[in-house]
Amino acid sequence: MVDVPLHPESIVVAAGRPPRTPRAPLSTPVVLTAPYQHGPDDNHYSRHETTDTVRAFEEAVGALEGGHAVAYSSGMGAVAAIAQAQPAGTVAVVPSAAYSGTLAIFGEQQALGHLQVRPVDITVTDEVIAALPGAGLLWLESVTNPLLGVADVPALAAAARRNGVRTYVDSTFSTPLGFRPLEHGADLVMHSATKYLAGHSDLLMGVLVARTAERAQELREGRALAGCIPGALECYLALRGLRTLAVRWERAQANAQELAERLAAHPRVTRVRFPGLPSDPGHEVASRLHDGYGAMISFDVAGTAEDAERVCTSLQLINHATSLGGVESLIERRARHAIDAEHGTPPTLLRFSVGIEHVEDLWTDLDGALTTKQ
Ligand SMILES: *Cc1c(COP(=O)(O)O)cnc(C)c1O
Repeated sequence: MVDVPLHPESIVVAAGRPPRTPRAPLSTPVVLTAPYQHGPDDNHYSRHETTDTVRAFEEAVGALEGGHAVAYSSGMGAVAAIAQAQPAGTVAVVPSAAYSGTLAIFGEQQALGHLQVRPVDITVTDEVIAALPGAGLLWLESVTNPLLGVADVPALAAAARRNGVRTYVDSTFSTPLGFRPLEHGADLVMHSATKYLAGHSDLLMGVLVARTAERAQELREGRALAGCIPGALECYLALRGLRTLAVRWERAQANAQELAERLAAHPRVTRVRFPGLPSDPGHEVASRLHDGYGAMISFDVAGTAEDAERVCTSLQLINHATSLGGVESLIERRARHAIDAEHGTPPTLLRFSVGIEHVEDLWTDLDGALTTKQ
């Protein structure tokens, strides 16, 4: 790339491109092959030796996070690569409320007798620190899904290090533009690239970013065995999506700030969770650690779970669908998923992924659905 340090807004555009030799393509081509022709001494198969398309995506994400990236076929593939690769009996300190798939996989590893799980409220720093002695792994979400709690990553990672515990941060809700956990002491960063990094709700991918090249190599060896490498088409699309992350993120965050403020004043909304509101419990930590407050809002609708579902089904522009981080706004009542309900998500909470549409169109849609005769 360029030999001066770049801002993340430039890295998303410039990183992961072929060398600038005459007639070289500007973008890395989609390399579709499983095996490669043998040479006398090499032995290439694309589950082991990734194609250039996979490597281009990894190079870009690694440059953004300041580490060494390893791509997976989904976010859950990346979480599994960590949860399933711990020595038997490892104590895992994990969030009591977080992304449902992550809670499910740690729960499964405990049920199989492989890990011992210690659930903690990761927004209460002292509670996490008290759980660290004797543990092997601390799993955090930079901002929790779906309750939007904000973890004090530097304080927690420093305490983990003192206890010989490795810190893993799922930074999906923050993106590398909002927060870079490796700069705050984390050992490893995870993203569901399905969300903001790819940004168009059209593929599944995950990524882990290690602090050292040696750790990344270990992860690559595990990935080759487990076979959870992404396809070249997915990597191409994810890198193409990443090119516009900075402008998508800027617009989505501005929309979210405006909508969170309007929702907080809406008579049919009983609570808004958004770190950008000064009254939010995560506001202080997010203001200190993050650039911006993200584009996810969770809010509680007055009435019953059915009333909240009806708000979702009355919307016309905002999509009633799971997932997040795409250009198109998505909303769902999160407790419709049993595991979220079991882990304390209020039955009337709507998780709203704010897209890049015009803010007034989004507000007209929301206000209309909230005030429709129920
Ligand atoms: C979606 C999500 C995941 C899982 O990612 P997939 O790509 O859907 O497998 C993990 N963590 C968080 C915070 C997520 O939002």
